[in-house]
Order: sequence, then C-alpha cells, then structure tokens
Amino acid sequence: MTAAAGVARSRVPLQTRPAMTTDTTPLRAAVRDVPDFPAPGIVFKDITPMLSDGALFKRTIDALTETVAESGVTKIVGIDARGFIFAAAVADRLGCGFVPVRKKGKLPWRTEGVSYDLEYGSNQIEIHADAIAPGERVWLVDDVLATGGTAAAAAGLIQRLGGDLAGMTFLIELGFLEGRKLLPARVPVEGVLIY
Ligand code: AMP
Repeated sequence: MTAAAGVARSRVPLQTRPAMTTDTTPLRAAVRDVPDFPAPGIVFKDITPMLSDGALFKRTIDALTETVAESGVTKIVGIDARGFIFAAAVADRLGCGFVPVRKKGKLPWRTEGVSYDLEYGSNQIEIHADAIAPGERVWLVDDVLATGGTAAAAAGLIQRLGGDLAGMTFLIELGFLEGRKLLPARVPVEGVLIY
C-alpha cells in the first residue's frame, strides 16, 4: 500500500516496527485544507475536524500511540500549541510524563531556548532545563512536519539537556517540503499522514 492509502511511512527499517493496524483513511479524509492561511501561498492543514469528533480523535491518538508504543520512552515531548493536544494524549495512553516545549517567555522556571526559521516567519522556543534527565529516553510528537525547523529546534533542546531522543512522530508530514532532512540523523521519524 502507498502513503496515499493512509499508511504511515518511516525511515526505520520495516522489520523494527509492525505495520500500523489503525486505519488512517478516515483521518486523512478529515484534514481540511485552508488556502492562503496564515499567509498567501500557504495551504494550512486544519486538524480541528479530527479533534471535534470523538471517534476520530480517539483514532488519531491510536495511530500516534502505535508509533511510540514499543519504544520504552518515559517522556513525550510536545510543541506549543497544537502539538500539546496530541503529545499529552499519547503520554496519557502510555503512562509517560509530558514535557512542553513552549514559545519564548511562557515557561516560569529556568529554561534552555533556541531561535529558528519557520515556513512562514521565525520563532523562539524554550524547554524547562530540568524537564528531561540526562540519558532519559523521550519521544517527540507534533501535529505537522513542514520545513522541519520547529522539530529540529526542539530536538536540539532535548539533546542539549542530555535526553536520548528515541524518535519523532508527526500526525501530518508535508513530504514535499523535505523537513526530514533537517532532523537528526539516526532518529526514527514517523509520519502518520504523508502529503
Ligand atoms: P515547520 O517548522 O516548518 O516544520 O512547521 C512547524 C509548525 O508550523 C508545525 O508544527 C505546524 O504547527 C505549523 N505549520 C507549518 N506549516 C503548516 C501547514 N501547512 N499547515 C498547518 N500547520 C503548519
């Protein structure tokens, strides 16, 4: 089957993780394309229809959780703001802790921060300096992998804290932007819905 049929693609060899059992076809059908938002030329992938339907939201978290389930991680890292929705739910399913990566100035404790370029504009993100213990295995879950700048910046923060980044899962991967190229080599990357 191809990615267009709704099957997740990974750069991890196939034998390391069983094929996804969650049928993601209804999830793909629920993604709403919004042209020219938030800037001309951007086709925004609106995931709110997946959130507002209980069965679809459950299926979304089923699919995301499958990609992390056998990893042995103890924390899930989520990125401000839509990433929180998915990462926190996956953490709850797996009994893991949840670590927020937030926009600059939002976290109250001592932080590590980084600036990076976006598909549209630029951004600064931060993580609490004590959120991940040295050597702790963590997984990053986010809504969309576009240019990869955000995920690469978050991965850099995790690694700066000494975290062992075991993998990264994106509900939507905009494959044509080749965001994977910016991500750390040798870290498994999972895209549930690839465009
Ligand atoms: P990037 O750093 O380019 O990979 O994009 C990071 C974040 O921007 C994603 O996690 C999304 O929240 C958001 N984003 C970028 N492009 C899009 C898009 N076309 N549709 C929806 N969200 C997007």
